[in-house]
This record gives sequence, C-alpha cells and structure tokens, in this order.
Amino acid sequence: MPKSIDIELSQLKFPSMCVVCMSPASKQYEVSQVYSRGTGSATVRINVPMCNSHFEAASAKNLAEKIVATCGVIVGILIGIAALILLIIRWVPTGNDSVILKLFIGGIVGFGAFIMVWATFEFWLAPMFATMASKEARNAVRIVLVSPHAETLRLEFMNEQLAEIVQRESQRS
Ligand SMILES: [Zn+2]
Repeated sequence: MPKSIDIELSQLKFPSMCVVCMSPASKQYEVSQVYSRGTGSATVRINVPMCNSHFEAASAKNLAEKIVATCGVIVGILIGIAALILLIIRWVPTGNDSVILKLFIGGIVGFGAFIMVWATFEFWLAPMFATMASKEARNAVRIVLVSPHAETLRLEFMNEQLAEIVQRESQRS
C-alpha cells in the first residue's frame, strides 16, 4: 500500500537507503514537481537516495521513450511553424500591421504551440513507454502536494515502511 506523509521541506531527511529496495544507497535521484504559486508556477526538487541499479533504472530511457521524445520535438516544431503561418495568414487588420509585429506575435504563438506539444510528448506520452523497472524506480517517491510557498510537501511512498522511517528521521532533526 502506498503511504503519504506531510513533511516540512527544511526538515526532510532520507535515510541512506534505496527508496525502492532499502539496500544501501549510493546515488541521489532527483524528483521534481511543478506547482502553482500565485500567478505563476515553480518547481520543487528533492533528492531521493537509490542504489546503483535502481538509479540506473530510474534514469535510463529505453529506445521507445527516446523515439517518442524525439517525435515530440519534430511534431512540436511543425505545429509551431504552422501556428506562426496560420496567424500571419489570418491576421485581422488592426491598423498597426507591421511585418515585425506579425512575426513577433506569430513567434510567441508558435513557440507556445511548440512547448505545449513538446511537453505533452516529453512528460506524458514518453513515460508511458518506460519499462516496468523504470516506472517502479521513478515512482517510488512522488511529490503529490506542495504548500503555497513549498514549506510543506506531501510525499507518497510506494514502500510504507520507508515512509515511516523518513517521517521519523525528519522529525528528529
Ligand atoms: Zn535499490
């Protein structure tokens, strides 16, 4: 059963054991989460300890993931260019229709379209093609909730026992 715990970020302390298999850890794997802060968004990152083999599993991308991620870049560029062209063709005259303005706004819209397509492939589609071992290692600890100023995190652990150890370690400090 996964177990969630709330912990103050400044107090967060992991034992020196792999979050997947609990054997001695030798590597740190970065887990990050984007959260909304006021009008914008920010990213919170934590390092979780892993043994060599689980670190490899979490970091390594298999061929399918790499292909999907590359497709994301290509499709993103094509859609970005299409958005730019479409915007210029369909430009509604505003009285201030300099080529530079059209290209500038078209560029922003095109770049935005690229980012949306690329991010969808990179962060949503590609991870679906990860191997079971990769998914297991990457999801061993997840940040499920971030308080408005990132003082407190809710972490979800796949390993209930480890969640309890982290909670104990973090309270002691
Ligand atoms: Zn391990």
